[in-house]
Amino acid sequence: MLGADQSDADGLPAGWPLGRGRNGSGLEAATRLERPERSQVGVVPEWPGPPPVHAEVVVIGGGIAGTAAAYHLSREGIQVALLERGRLGGGTTARGVGVFSPPMRQPFHETVRFRGEAVAREIWQFAERSVRGLADLLAARGAADACELDMSGGLILAERHTESEVRSSFAALRRAGFAVEWLGVDVVRERTGSGAFTGALRLAVGGAVEPVVAAYTLARAAVEAGTRIAEDIEVSGVASTDAGLVCRTAQGEVACEMVVYATHVDSRRFSSFLGDEIVPVRWQAFRTGPVATRFRGAFATGRRQNYWRQAADGSLEIAGWRYDSWERSYYQPRPALDERLQSDLRGWFEAAFPALAPLQVERRWSGILGWTADYLPLVGPLPGRPRELVIGGFSGGGLCFAFEAGRIIARTVKGGESVPGTELFNPRRFA
Ligand SMILES: Cc1cc2nc3c(=O)[nH]c(=O)nc-3n(C[C@H](O)[C@H](O)[C@H](O)COP(=O)(O)OP(=O)(O)OC[C@H]3O[C@@H](n4cnc5c(N)ncnc54)[C@H](O)[C@@H]3O)c2cc1C
Repeated sequence: MLGADQSDADGLPAGWPLGRGRNGSGLEAATRLERPERSQVGVVPEWPGPPPVHAEVVVIGGGIAGTAAAYHLSREGIQVALLERGRLGGGTTARGVGVFSPPMRQPFHETVRFRGEAVAREIWQFAERSVRGLADLLAARGAADACELDMSGGLILAERHTESEVRSSFAALRRAGFAVEWLGVDVVRERTGSGAFTGALRLAVGGAVEPVVAAYTLARAAVEAGTRIAEDIEVSGVASTDAGLVCRTAQGEVACEMVVYATHVDSRRFSSFLGDEIVPVRWQAFRTGPVATRFRGAFATGRRQNYWRQAADGSLEIAGWRYDSWERSYYQPRPALDERLQSDLRGWFEAAFPALAPLQVERRWSGILGWTADYLPLVGPLPGRPRELVIGGFSGGGLCFAFEAGRIIARTVKGGESVPGTELFNPRRFA
């Protein structure tokens, strides 16, 4: 049975009153997100019946994280079953706008200040490797166009009040040897059509991608490597037995040696540790009709207060958050449209790009990010429960981290030499 903070197959809360507003709160019911038709991405072979009775590893959840874990596990020769309660990529992954460049939640110079340059560099290199790894896989499978993969890099746009921070980040990244450049006001105006910015930090690595098709493509690669995938199968609980673990579903039990929770903010039902450490933060996003300006790659302002990518048809997908309304987002476990934040985001964009105003907004949605206290994902065994692993808590950067995080999971299960990031993202840091 779904708990109060669990979601239905579309990633929306069970019983959420679709189409009805909530009195007085300024919040509306979440809108349903359209998923791409399967014909666009090819059909993932589905389970022709009940789940198998045994797998070496069961991955629970088929978003970008679960599909990445399954892919790497299968490539290590491990027998994997992935169980998704709804549709592959239909959870938070379907709500991402597709900024696909290294994380900017905590500006690089701050990461250096708090953790030292060596650790900051390790985090950034991990994200770059992850972005490149997924991009290469999508391209090698001939899916670059279907995934709207655009590796033109990322721009972090400086405004008058954020310029010194963006410049500090730029200086720290350059000192650490990363491929970045500073763009002056005229170049930024030429590239964006806007005179609202005082400059920009340009990241050479990454760009933009359509998240659901990327997850599907990863899932297909996992299936070809041996993963068995079942949709519409919800794991209601995981129990320990003498022989290992058992995943319970309404369609039967699946015995396994290890389990991977790729269930995003819905991990609480499996572990109170994860419930405590992955904090739900509600985010807002909208999609416009096609616009005349061509935006290549990923765009963001400092700390991703506003960020967007342009889809292949010219429409923009824009998301973000606000410092002064943090209480409207933090610890909010359910998607719901927030009129004030939606209107702030839209207002900011229209003021920054007056030539594109008024924006024709075609769809609005909200979704939940899973934040951790240090903005870094949780990847690896749960403290004191070595057969249960987690991949999640991406703090809003799942597309950029998931691919290499999946490799950590696979190598941890397989044993042998560990891969970079294994210690850094190990959940025991919070135990
Ligand atoms: C508005 C918005 C914009 C964003 N923009 C970006 C962006 O531009 N760039 C970026 O990098 N990130 C972005 N993100 C964050 C990104 O979407 C997430 O970090 C990422 O999708 C998380 O992937 P996941 O696989 O961990 O979670 P999910 O995609 O939610 O996958 C978890 C899956 O587990 C399934 N599940 C849960 N419980 C069970 C169960 N008991 N049994 C079986 N299945 C279960 C769910 O159905 C779901 O499909 C954005 C998020 C939001 C909300």
